[in-house]
Amino acid sequence: MTDTTIVNRKDRARVATAETMKALVYRGPGKKALEVHPKPDISAPTDAIVKITKTTICGTDLHILKGDLPSCKPGRVLGHEGVGVVESVGPAVTSFKPGDRVLISCVSACGKCDYCRKQMYSHCTAGGWILGNTIDGTQAEFVRTPFADTSLYHIPADADEESLVMLSDILPTGFECGVLNGKVEPGSVVAIVGAGPVGMAALLTAQFFSPAEIIMIDLDDNRLEVAKRFGATTIVNSADGKAMDTIMSMTGRRGVDTAIEAVGIPATFELCEKIIAPGGTIANVGVHGVKVDLHLENLWDRNISITTRLVDTVTIPMLFKTVRSRKIDPKLLITHRFKLDDILDAYETFANAAKTKALKVIIEA
Ligand SMILES: [Zn+2]
Ligand SMILES: [Zn+2]
Repeated sequence: MTDTTIVNRKDRARVATAETMKALVYRGPGKKALEVHPKPDISAPTDAIVKITKTTICGTDLHILKGDLPSCKPGRVLGHEGVGVVESVGPAVTSFKPGDRVLISCVSACGKCDYCRKQMYSHCTAGGWILGNTIDGTQAEFVRTPFADTSLYHIPADADEESLVMLSDILPTGFECGVLNGKVEPGSVVAIVGAGPVGMAALLTAQFFSPAEIIMIDLDDNRLEVAKRFGATTIVNSADGKAMDTIMSMTGRRGVDTAIEAVGIPATFELCEKIIAPGGTIANVGVHGVKVDLHLENLWDRNISITTRLVDTVTIPMLFKTVRSRKIDPKLLITHRFKLDDILDAYETFANAAKTKALKVIIEA
């Protein structure tokens, strides 16, 4: 009898899933696993626990898996994008309650520090990009979101969740770091180097400002064809090494007013330096892991500007309205859908985009 009782107790503990959840865990460079992980708890009064309904994988997650981001330690749950339902809130949270559907910003903002007061949430001294980096992220059944009042957004009942997953990171990144920093104007000529999800997000949102031309540059013909459907006026495959000549001849040797760098390698930034017109702006979006040469010997007299930025996600509310009014359709970026149980397949698909034609993958938790 006694023995049986003990076994039963142990069994109960093992299946006590109220304490655990499934999560995609980073296990060091090149290693990841779908594991049973402790469910997050409220640890600060400003926290919320969100039950994830949909999340996605970002190029940044692949950088982490390569070992490019030492801030992200083994054991971390990855992911910084997603939508879900509030499960519980800390005592200081006033704008959200259990049951609310929410969009999670990839950047957590305390709302009080000097940077937050300047709307530079990415540099928040208590937050910034911490989700799926220095704290557990969204590729799980549940996530703890710090500073819930200033880092979550309400989702109206009739809104499409899949579209909104694109608002956690890539749409604001393409828009803020590329289009706004790049000063895209009516009638201007824009080049976007890199037709990945963020380059595509810049392509979609650049059209708010009616530029005369948007030239999309990439190595992948499939992505370039997609870009054409999304509104690129010209596509250039740079595989032949002649992208600069092609762009200079199509602009009458003038170059482009805005060059958006959305790859993050020396060759693509240097292409932007070569095609920028006098008075133009190079807007860097890409995450650079190695040094890039700045050719001031060619650029010193060109009146150009170069901008860098980490997405602040300050434009989420604005982009939200444009999605709801169908000015843009971020769902176009979604190419594949998976269940959380199949997240390793989702990574495989996303990491082999040239073969699988993947842009963004949706993962249903
Ligand atoms: Zn991301
Ligand atoms: Zn702050």
